Amino acid sequence: MSLKVLVLNSGSSSIKFELFEMPSEKRQARGLLEKIGEEQSKLTYTIGDSKYTIDQKVADHGQGLRLIIDALTDQSKGGLKDISEIGAVGHRVVHGGEAFSETVIIDDKVQKAVEEHIQLAPLHNPPNLLGIKVARELLPNVPQVAVFDTAYHQTMPAYAFTYPIPYELYEQLRVRRYGFHGTSHRYVAARAAKILGRKLEETNLITAHLGNGASMTAIQNGKSIDTTMGLTPLEGLIMGTRCGDIDPAIIAFLARVKDMPVAQIDNLLNKKSGMLGVSGLSNDMRSVEQAANEGNTRAALALEMYCYRIKKYVGAYTAAIGNVHALVFTAGVGENSDVVRERVCSNLQNIGYKIDVEKNRGVRGKELDIATADSPIRILIIPTNEELMIAQDTYALTAKK
Ligand code: AMP
Repeated sequence: MSLKVLVLNSGSSSIKFELFEMPSEKRQARGLLEKIGEEQSKLTYTIGDSKYTIDQKVADHGQGLRLIIDALTDQSKGGLKDISEIGAVGHRVVHGGEAFSETVIIDDKVQKAVEEHIQLAPLHNPPNLLGIKVARELLPNVPQVAVFDTAYHQTMPAYAFTYPIPYELYEQLRVRRYGFHGTSHRYVAARAAKILGRKLEETNLITAHLGNGASMTAIQNGKSIDTTMGLTPLEGLIMGTRCGDIDPAIIAFLARVKDMPVAQIDNLLNKKSGMLGVSGLSNDMRSVEQAANEGNTRAALALEMYCYRIKKYVGAYTAAIGNVHALVFTAGVGENSDVVRERVCSNLQNIGYKIDVEKNRGVRGKELDIATADSPIRILIIPTNEELMIAQDTYALTAKK
């Protein structure tokens, strides 16, 4: 049965959307509404191959979604005949805590649970919830589905997700490691299994989602057994503006020596650290790579730290998994930066990773095996597609077969 699935990713002042025809997976439209609540909001979208822009004030998410649906049903631009053509809506939701280990159909109970998890994701869950509320109001008879960033990692064993702090903090407040980017890790894992010609349930992988936010996952028999992000997305790899793993005592040190309030330290570690903080230039890997090439020593240091941290996790996860079939690079940096891929994989032949430097060079955004023919472990580039994964999940749960 064919179904049009609208995928929504609601941020604090933005709504990203894609419309898929399922199960053919044909993308019919996509777009981004930005600056909701500001003087001048902007909707940019594509229907088929044509691009459009609408500049107008959009006061809130409700008005925003209405504008998006109007744009999608503008027949003069090749849009849908009617709003009723939308058969299901898939929502990206960042935090599902321990309540959700898979994608679910949204009802009042699920909506309430998303609300209850605001404490764990105070920046992300409120706009996700808002997106769900306005979509349910506007499309009351259309089934809606929530796809959680955390769900895929719910298979982590307790010894991987528990923090070595007083256990009562887990019991009372659910302070533990959750992990994020689950939709992306799950998508590339499924692709990797296909490429390797293996059943997903018998595939062991290390997936590296290296975007502005970045995380790695250890996957055993198709399931996440460890991941680098924790209670929040701050833990793990060095990111565009996030520090990743640091000595937690730095927080108390800054509070004591610089008299910094906690909120300011939190902002410093989330928004002013990582590649931006070390290079002093940019959170954007392209700019950092270019500056490093031109001899900027802090940019070179940031790049070296970035790759070194990933390499350390490749080693750690190789040990955790035991028998890795492939290392997968995905997202902006992973798909596009041959420099990062080469550096991460350099001198790892002793643990089974042999990169073909020539094959890797210049590859951007396409599926490719960049390991040498005799490498015991494959090294794959796989472009991620979280929106398609959400559409697939939504279709699987809502299509009447
Ligand atoms: P994402 O969050 O997945 O969109 O990834 C964004 C990151 O990918 C940014 O740091 C970009 O600089 C980086 N990126 C995109 N294209 C390239 C490229 N050709 N070389 C290096 N980094 C890139």
